[in-house]
Amino acid sequence: MFFIADLHVHSRFSRATSKNLNLEALYQWARIKGINVVGTGDFTHPQWFKEIQEKLEPDGSGFFKMKNPPREPGLPGAKVSDTTVRFCLSSEISSIYKYGDKVRKNHNLIFAPDLETVSEINARLSQIGNLTADGRPILGLPSRDLLEIITECSERSYLIPAHVWTPWFSTLGSKGGYDSVDECFRDLSHLIFALETGLSSDPAMNWHWSALDRFALISNSDAHSAQKLGREATLFDTEMSYDAMFHALKSRDGFLGTYEFFPQEGKYHLDGHRKCGVSLNPSQTNYRSSGSPMFPQKKKLRVAITGWSLLYRN
Ligand SMILES: [Zn+2]
Ligand SMILES: [Zn+2]
Repeated sequence: MFFIADLHVHSRFSRATSKNLNLEALYQWARIKGINVVGTGDFTHPQWFKEIQEKLEPDGSGFFKMKNPPREPGLPGAKVSDTTVRFCLSSEISSIYKYGDKVRKNHNLIFAPDLETVSEINARLSQIGNLTADGRPILGLPSRDLLEIITECSERSYLIPAHVWTPWFSTLGSKGGYDSVDECFRDLSHLIFALETGLSSDPAMNWHWSALDRFALISNSDAHSAQKLGREATLFDTEMSYDAMFHALKSRDGFLGTYEFFPQEGKYHLDGHRKCGVSLNPSQTNYRSSGSPMFPQKKKLRVAITGWSLLYRN
């Protein structure tokens, strides 16, 4: 069956998120927008995990349903679709660590098939850092080691690098990342089968780089409020179950593609520096970085290399 998944979402326990971001709100907005599978987000946070256990129950497919789904959309006049909404146990980890003389800052999405696995992952990660301070915890744990831990907890747990082109906090970011997925995950990189591209990035641009060909490129909302749900999403045509969804990403059989935000509206689409009053679109970056005298205040300019500019520069 055709279904729409939004697998990168947060709870109200993450920093800079809406106070109203609870499971009911996610459920209601998923119904309004017609999203079938929604990440729970933040399962590493003890209080949020408690709510997940209280309010959700397994539906037998590896996904979870609400025990008492709210009837009304909570938004006057909103039309509610008849979408079946299921939750997928998910969380995001912010890893800040040193590797090869450079500080790395990577965000990764992690997924688990059942509550027992989440408990185990949380027990392991709580020995490494504080899981209570933030729904998206900051750990001094290399991405590779995070992948090792979640795989040890269950071979049906998966890691997908988040918004991979974000300059400061991602696997391929120009500031805190690496030049390849293999460099980041080393001996375990064969366990990475998908990458999240992020709001500023466009799949068509990513397709130009053959090193990404082996990954399914997914998109999600990274919603910090329930209304933002589905501003990007990933599309499937397969059985609506946890194993079938991840099998589709691994095999590309049943993975249809993504719904995309206009990349031009994304935070990192353009290069530039606000204080210097510089804003460059990709073709300008390409032209000016080749040494044009028109480059304004060249010394002060800090160019955030996004996916777009990197590919245009090649
Ligand atoms: Zn992130
Ligand atoms: Zn996020």
